[in-house]
Amino acid sequence: MNSIDIQKKDQQYIANTYKRFPVALVEGAGAVARDPEGKEYIDFTSGIGVNCLGYADKGWADAISAQAHKLQHVSNLYNTQPDVEAAEMLCRYTGFSRVFFGNSGAEANEGALKVARKYGMEKHGEQCNTVISLKNSFHGRTITTLSATGQDTFHQFFFPFTEGFKFVEAGDIEGLNNAVDETVCGIMIELIQGEGGVVPVDSEFVKEVARICQEKDLIFIIDEIQTGISRTGTFLCYEQFGVKPDVVTLAKGIGGGLPLGAVMMNGKTADVLGFGQHGSTFGGNPVACAGACYVLERVMKPEFLEEVKRKAVYMKKKLQALSQIKSVTGLGLMLGAELEDGLTAGEAAGKCVEEGLLVLTAKTKLRFLPPLMIGYDEIDRGIEILARVLQR
Ligand SMILES: *Cc1c(COP(=O)(O)O)cnc(C)c1O
Repeated sequence: MNSIDIQKKDQQYIANTYKRFPVALVEGAGAVARDPEGKEYIDFTSGIGVNCLGYADKGWADAISAQAHKLQHVSNLYNTQPDVEAAEMLCRYTGFSRVFFGNSGAEANEGALKVARKYGMEKHGEQCNTVISLKNSFHGRTITTLSATGQDTFHQFFFPFTEGFKFVEAGDIEGLNNAVDETVCGIMIELIQGEGGVVPVDSEFVKEVARICQEKDLIFIIDEIQTGISRTGTFLCYEQFGVKPDVVTLAKGIGGGLPLGAVMMNGKTADVLGFGQHGSTFGGNPVACAGACYVLERVMKPEFLEEVKRKAVYMKKKLQALSQIKSVTGLGLMLGAELEDGLTAGEAAGKCVEEGLLVLTAKTKLRFLPPLMIGYDEIDRGIEILARVLQR
């Protein structure tokens, strides 16, 4: 099929939930994707932070295909090797105690919310079931994770939403303290609000969240679905904030391109969920977890993290040097750019695609989540295209 064939069939048969660019992608290598006609696209998106090792990484593809040839799935009634290996790597690196594997970010956050509610109920009584989250946050698309998302546009159509959420402005320490009462069992935050516009959350505020959770025995959940897996220059972003959450949720980059999500639980939360209280048919899938083991092995290496940091500095400087960019936010290879008057972010993204550069938007900003192994030359080529688009 050529690009037009694919687009036509997409419009006819696929649910209308995505506003896609008029591009079909059929293959890729590293930070470059190709359409059926052979046109190349520099990738500053990683499929929204998923393909952390780029397209078709050889070692990753070998790991998942070897696993597919051996054992692609068993039910969760039996033990398998890839999930225990991935969980061990996660726990050893982070100091967390246990991992629950699911298939997506929203599913990971659902698991985390279940942990917080059950902990609250058992420790503090049945009234203790409210989770505080931040305004402008994004936590997923299920009914409950939409409820946890602090943006009004997500609270439409699908009533009734799950009860038990309260929202506080990021940075508003007084508001946070006022919101905590005997109904609150946990606080869930992102450290950089990704979908919200690549907005870093103030570190003093994050420390205050940690302090209150400690003092009031609440569950401190950090949603690292976008910031985790070495995206920001440390394996998990919270390492840079000097806090220790009780629960961390992961997805996006962890499987290197296969669907996988994880709830990581510390000593306080590891045994909150017991037999029969949570589960997922595909959770811990051997093929996805074999991919995760390969990804983790690579991205946890200190040299790899150093390289991410170096490239991040390089890319941020190049973006800041463009006169049409007003400001650059974010950490590591998770960057947002506010544009000067002229093209909107959406228009600029559309023009970039035409010119062979894939970029994301978040609210009014352009958003960049390149694969973590992107080369300096590819950063250069991508920024050249961006500069050309913005100049016009
Ligand atoms: C993408 C994202 C989610 C949702 O992940 P899905 O895999 O799409 O369910 C949740 N939280 C954050 C911070 C995200 O970036």
